[in-house]
Amino acid sequence: MLWDIDHTLVSVRQLSGEIYGEVFREVTGHPLERLADMAGRTDRAIMADTLRLHGLEPTAEIMARFARMLAEAFSVRQEDIRARGRVLPGARAALRALADQSDVIQSVLTGNMKEIALYKLAAFELAPFMDFDIGSYGLDDAERPPLVKLAQQRAARKYGETFDAATTVLIGDTPNDVRAGHEGGSRVVAVATGASDEAALRAAGAELVLPDLTDTDAVVQVVLTISDS
Ligand SMILES: [Mg+2]
Repeated sequence: MLWDIDHTLVSVRQLSGEIYGEVFREVTGHPLERLADMAGRTDRAIMADTLRLHGLEPTAEIMARFARMLAEAFSVRQEDIRARGRVLPGARAALRALADQSDVIQSVLTGNMKEIALYKLAAFELAPFMDFDIGSYGLDDAERPPLVKLAQQRAARKYGETFDAATTVLIGDTPNDVRAGHEGGSRVVAVATGASDEAALRAAGAELVLPDLTDTDAVVQVVLTISDS
């Protein structure tokens, strides 16, 4: 089970954009005028595109510095994340219910770099549900689909089993998540708790679209059914 984080499990509202802005200024010496589109995209792609939007070349050096300072900024903003963000309805109960299933392993497939994924989930005490070793993250690749294989390979190494499209379910809130799952090799459950409505997620081809995560039994059943079929 691979969870997207933003707008699927938690929402931190404008905070991510604000922190990006502060760090951008520190890294480049320029004010942030435009932030690249963030929805369903990876930190690697967002950082590189944002630099390019300001006429700056995303060299390995500047990208590494950007990433290091972003992680640092999120680590010192734990209180802010808690105060201004929230766990989405049903998310905690769904994670807990799936944690009770002995044959389900939960991790994240997120555009967030690993440290930020950890900080966001830890701020709301959701981190213990996740095996972060086998997740895949926003610095692993600029594109999202390859992240699925990567998570499956990490899981196979750790658990000694094969993970493929028949045994992997990805859950996310954007058409990018749906595409990542299908191109990368998983089934997809989509939740309409982000910017995309149910019709858009259905059109993107998600196996199942839920309005949110509040129906715990439905979430558990669908994960078990999808991964059994
Ligand atoms: Mg998301």
